[in-house]
Amino acid sequence: DFNLYGALRAAFPANLDQIAVEATSPMGEALNYSWRDLDHASGRLANLLASLQLPAGSRIAVQVDKSVEAMLLYLAVLRTGHVFLPLNTAYRKAEIEYFIGNAEPAVVVCTPGSFGWVSQLAFSAGVGHVFTLGDDRNGSLLERAAVQPDAFATAPRAEDDLAAIVYTSGTTGRSKGAMLTHGNLLSNARVLKDYWGWTATGGPEGRGDVLIHALPIFHVHGLFVAIHGALINGSKMIWMAKFDPAAVIAALPRATVFMGVPTLYVRMLADPALTREAARHMRLFISGSAPLLIETFNAWQERTGHTILERYGMSETIMLTSNPYAADARHQGQSERIGATVGFPLPGVDLRVVDEQDGPLAAGEIGAIQVRGPNVFKGYWRMPEKTAEEFAAGGWFRTGDVGSQDARGYVTIVGRSKDLIISGGYNVYPAEIESVINELSGVDESAVVGVPHPDFGEVGVAVVVPRPGASPDPEAILQALRQSMANYKIPKRCVVAAELPRNTMGKVQKNLLRAQYQDVFA
Ligand code: ATP
Ligand code: MG
Repeated sequence: DFNLYGALRAAFPANLDQIAVEATSPMGEALNYSWRDLDHASGRLANLLASLQLPAGSRIAVQVDKSVEAMLLYLAVLRTGHVFLPLNTAYRKAEIEYFIGNAEPAVVVCTPGSFGWVSQLAFSAGVGHVFTLGDDRNGSLLERAAVQPDAFATAPRAEDDLAAIVYTSGTTGRSKGAMLTHGNLLSNARVLKDYWGWTATGGPEGRGDVLIHALPIFHVHGLFVAIHGALINGSKMIWMAKFDPAAVIAALPRATVFMGVPTLYVRMLADPALTREAARHMRLFISGSAPLLIETFNAWQERTGHTILERYGMSETIMLTSNPYAADARHQGQSERIGATVGFPLPGVDLRVVDEQDGPLAAGEIGAIQVRGPNVFKGYWRMPEKTAEEFAAGGWFRTGDVGSQDARGYVTIVGRSKDLIISGGYNVYPAEIESVINELSGVDESAVVGVPHPDFGEVGVAVVVPRPGASPDPEAILQALRQSMANYKIPKRCVVAAELPRNTMGKVQKNLLRAQYQDVFA
């Protein structure tokens, strides 16, 4: 019997009066939470949830602005043994209606401002309880919890019991609910604590690690990788409700670890306050959730002297691979963090690259990435057929990502299988073409997507975003590509666009681009 919260709680420092979370209220007031505060406040919330006498395994759906209390609610749900279901704050009515209908939560927690429409949706879908939680310690949830006792006996769970359902980002289509167990989450948290060298006391200047938390908490990156990472190490978090590059840079001297998606790094680089001096005390910068451009990786190294550690994961598996933090004994002691790769499979994770028949490929060959391990989810919520389809014989999960693993063990992602272009029978990997286009002068970023073509079946269309003030010539871009790659890879059309369509996680939505350029060769 164990419970993820129990394992995190066991890692709290002996002195519970120490500060666990340093936050700022929306009015700019400093808010400190001790380790005891985390335990007691999550205890009160857990008591409130328990008082509702919900059936075992009830889903608690939460769509609220980021706040420390929202994290405490997550911990409370773990403690009761119910299932946490975070929802992206950007979702509107039709989306929330789908998630509530699909997940059938017993409780919905929303912002005070959205109570009107959310409660209407929720009650008509048969949800029993709707609470509100604002970003300034306000709302009915905390009012109701305030009168509850601080102490709560955390419910024992089995490793295989559900802890959370996380909906995927919906980059390739409708979001699917990934069912994650207490065992999935805890095994991953333990592996990352070791692999990334988290330290409770031996950090720079003799103190333990301090994490800057500036990510949203409705997604695996901010909710699991970041929060579990800090809690299971007894590390303080500097909590930022919103990402503000200047605020993160100002906090760097008081922190040691930062986690970001690539766009956060790009935005910090745009601020001249980011200097070697500002980043001097930092131990580790980690990037993931989307590909980190090699330009960003190099610029960061040049500006700060730090090498960003890129890792790869997904809602269904939490973290899968990571560049090394230190010498990796499993890989001849290699310690180099190589840009544009996502590093080695994490300890305990089996990873293979296979062909269309699920046959393993040799080192360096590009194919579908499949994984296995204690971190791999239980399946998609209420989608047994989809779940069965996504597992190959031997329990290998089809990630949907395409890539290769080189002879040294480094994994490189070249795109998603759904984004692969098959042109005249040849496989074309968009990432390869995009990286060449991105190097051309006047180009900020690009996306290559496949569209139907009468002769070739499918051909690439390159959508190019210019740098501010530049006006790259589409024909010159195609000409430049012809110099450097085989003809079958060259997009048949290049268009300049003001921006690429991104979803709320900052991921490029190639399905929208494909739809937009669907008919150009029809
Ligand atoms: P959906 O499954 O609904 O289409 P999604 O796959 O974007 O959406 P997530 O689970 O949030 O939803 O994202 C996981 C995906 O993000 C991975 O499958 C991979 O394609 C991408 N990804 C994560 N980290 C990296 C990385 N370091 N480099 C490249 N891609 C990454
Ligand atoms: Mg996915």
